[in-house]
Amino acid sequence: MLGTASAMCGKYRNNTGILVEVKQDHFIFLDCGEGSLNQVVRLRGEEGARRVLKNLKAIYISHQHADHHLGSIDLLTTREEIFKESNEAIPPLYIVVTRKYSNFMTSYHKNIQPVLTNLQLIKNEDLIFHTQKDEYYEEILDADRVRFVDKNVLDEFQKYAGLSYIETCRALHCRDAFCLTLTTENGFKLTFSGDTRPIARLVEIGKDSDLLIHEGSIEHCMIKDAIIKKHSTFTEAINVGKDMKAKFTLITHFSQRYSKMPPLEEIENEENVGIAFDNLVVNPSNVQQIRLLYPALKLMFSKEYDEMLDRSDALKMTMDRDLDMNPDDDERQDVDYKTELIRKLDQRYKKKQEIFKGIQRWRKDMVDKNKPPSPEKFEQLSNLINKVSPDTGSRSASPSRKSPAARSTSNSPPSGGADKKIIKRSRSPPLVSNIHDKLLKIKSKESPEHSIKSERVKPATKKRNVSPPSPVRSSSTADIPDRLLKVVKKDAGSQK
Ligand SMILES: [Zn+2]
Ligand SMILES: [Zn+2]
Repeated sequence: MLGTASAMCGKYRNNTGILVEVKQDHFIFLDCGEGSLNQVVRLRGEEGARRVLKNLKAIYISHQHADHHLGSIDLLTTREEIFKESNEAIPPLYIVVTRKYSNFMTSYHKNIQPVLTNLQLIKNEDLIFHTQKDEYYEEILDADRVRFVDKNVLDEFQKYAGLSYIETCRALHCRDAFCLTLTTENGFKLTFSGDTRPIARLVEIGKDSDLLIHEGSIEHCMIKDAIIKKHSTFTEAINVGKDMKAKFTLITHFSQRYSKMPPLEEIENEENVGIAFDNLVVNPSNVQQIRLLYPALKLMFSKEYDEMLDRSDALKMTMDRDLDMNPDDDERQDVDYKTELIRKLDQRYKKKQEIFKGIQRWRKDMVDKNKPPSPEKFEQLSNLINKVSPDTGSRSASPSRKSPAARSTSNSPPSGGADKKIIKRSRSPPLVSNIHDKLLKIKSKESPEHSIKSERVKPATKKRNVSPPSPVRSSSTADIPDRLLKVVKKDAGSQK
């Protein structure tokens, strides 16, 4: 474990980075936050790090938050230098990354520094098996039991990296975030959650894992913060491990609240669960011994540990207070504020699902029944979008009172900054306006009698009175799988 912190590094924890020795001299990085290479040098010495880089087979990046990938360029350039120094040919290196990240790499290569020497790209998106019922699909279709990675490419990669199987699924975190499971040639199954809320699909793909590395950013009493920031609590991570019957669950990605060590109340009595710390090296035979270290860790950080437990108790009391508390109480307001925010986020999520289901039904009509939707059907979908759009992602997502982050209170929990971020995001144009535009474009190309005049949607757009697009939402339609858009476009084209 090269880095076990979330968001930013500290003195005791670096950003996320995991080095897996799949078999002797076959290494894979699972995420590499900034400083990951330095961590390898600290762990294995200069010669050891050189050996790792020379035998590096793949780098996997779960998502594009900086704490998970900023060390990758350093890895690539140093690796190349090492081969150049000894005049050796540079062997291939697979990068298993999101589509978005591969675009970033290409742009970096073109405009800043050449880094793509002898790299083979595999996209996380293409390693998904489309068998899941997710937010986009109302039901499982036979046609969806596929994945898009080229079989020959995949076989070659697995053989090269010493793997017998690899699969990803979408995480519930930011857009384009993924979870991964891999099995080595020796049959060791390792599942890595990346950053995510607990999700059923991860339990399915990681079933019976030998080792689950799951993020657990904060204590369970802070679950509201976990929901808002789309991370998991310790207890949730442990439960995912139990649900998938993982032989051992290693919790990582700790908030800097726990820079030295996390409170162990939720963790220490659980069998087959352990906490990760930087430079921890586990293998199938020693993983159970992590728990034996707890007394020593508590003693080593005794002052900080006691302070942390006091803080934790105070927090639990705040969360448990009765509703008849003084309404002006800042802490009470923070709790209410978060509860309201979660309700709004949940509402927005459900409405989004409704829209995708509408599109899915429309698509089914086009594909299965081989006929374009009737004007009535299209009208229905259009109405659905119009009905949903005015308060989807609108200002109403933010409660009327000021965000705790905006108030200058000294006792608000340290999560205030993230709340502010969410408010900002929720003020950008709703996702549905983009979908609607896209549908209208497809529709107007399709046939004149089905085209909807743009005036019909104008009132809704006007009513929303949205602020100009922010960079955060600039590619909102990325929430719709490309595949779906492609099918819709193709079908629309074929009916011209
Ligand atoms: Zn993270
Ligand atoms: Zn993240």
